Amino acid sequence: MKKISVLGSTGSIGMQTMEVVRSNRELFSLEAVTANSSIDLLEQQVREFRPKLAVIYDESKYAEFKSRVGTLTEVATGIEGLIAAATIAEADTVVTSIVGIAGLIPTYHAINNHKNIALANKETLVAGGRLIMSKAKENNVSILPVDSEHCAIFQSIGCNKKSQISKLILTASGGPFRTKTKEELNHVTLADALNHPNWKMGKKITVDSATLMNKGLEVIEARWLFDVNAEEIEVCVHPQSIIHSMVEYIDGSVIAQLGLPDMKLPIQYALTYPNRLSMQGEKLDLTKYGTLTFEKPDTEKFPCLKLAYDALKAGDSACVTVNGANEAAVELFLNGKISFMDIPKLITSVLEKHETINNPTLEEIIEIDQWARSLTYELYKKRWSNC
Ligand code: NAD
Ligand code: MG
Repeated sequence: MKKISVLGSTGSIGMQTMEVVRSNRELFSLEAVTANSSIDLLEQQVREFRPKLAVIYDESKYAEFKSRVGTLTEVATGIEGLIAAATIAEADTVVTSIVGIAGLIPTYHAINNHKNIALANKETLVAGGRLIMSKAKENNVSILPVDSEHCAIFQSIGCNKKSQISKLILTASGGPFRTKTKEELNHVTLADALNHPNWKMGKKITVDSATLMNKGLEVIEARWLFDVNAEEIEVCVHPQSIIHSMVEYIDGSVIAQLGLPDMKLPIQYALTYPNRLSMQGEKLDLTKYGTLTFEKPDTEKFPCLKLAYDALKAGDSACVTVNGANEAAVELFLNGKISFMDIPKLITSVLEKHETINNPTLEEIIEIDQWARSLTYELYKKRWSNC
């Protein structure tokens, strides 16, 4: 039986992880769940799965949550609570489905406590890739990708020799604005950006998918997961989201993984690898599609993808910066403070002010992230706000 702790259990990936557990109760036991502030959902999960520990990160919700669940489970809060869930003795695997760099510290502690990681929280690798991968190696833990593209690459590598890979090809749906002109992108709304054609996800990643920053973050994630450099990672727009990514080998062979767009598959695979479990639901019928199409990404229209490549080429702390500035800019966009095209403008301005350092410590990563966020808000106040 696999014993798991799910960080961010009330989000899109967290809830789909619960579905995987629900369908295979004899294979998984849930030891810890955590949420930012959604006490209703977290309470339901406690009642259904009876984990040993439930963590409500928002301290103002702690008392109410504790009184609701009574003696059903232990309850904790704040960053100490997240670390307790990440390191809980009973679990062997931690599913990291918190959104944003908030996942970095708990993931770091989970690895230092020898937990295997099923990694959805890509921002942790974007900001702390070198540190996290070296800690994983040191502690002999595996980091298995939940992100569908990286799961596809992982499957496409299989038993092939990594030294014979010539490039990774990450597919991208292109998001809701793929066919819009540059001019039209100046007028798109938050509701438009949240209307993703193929995937139902949390708000931050949905906006990232619309700007193509999600693909940029995934390029950086792939760099660390598969130990390749920026030149060996290509992005290909594939609007049907059926080919989840591909690997090209030195002899020209390209191996891909295909499937319907459903995150339960990569979540389940990360939890059962090297085994596969049967899964309920529709299976891929290519004849229903007839045609699969492919395009080059347009980085003029979607500068965020290029910003991520630039950061990767510049060095570690530039990736922390691009991630922090993006998180802050997306939050401003979600709160209706800036327009869609202001997101890349703000990130560009922050990156211009950054001086790269390599191999930052955990403390330095957190410091650089804070700096990038503060500068993003400062620039917004100076240039974007009238007050
Ligand atoms: P989401 O917003 O739906 O859920 C986020 C979860 O994290 C929630 O449980 C929330 O309570 C918790 N959380 C948020 N902020 C927190 C904080 N500061 N401290 C503690 N907990 C906090 O997000 P999601 O779509 O499930 O995405 C989660 C991660 O998985 C992201 O890194 C995303 O890029 C990645 N991912 C998501 C998908 C998808 O289909 N949703 C696909 C691939 C990768
Ligand atoms: Mg993805």
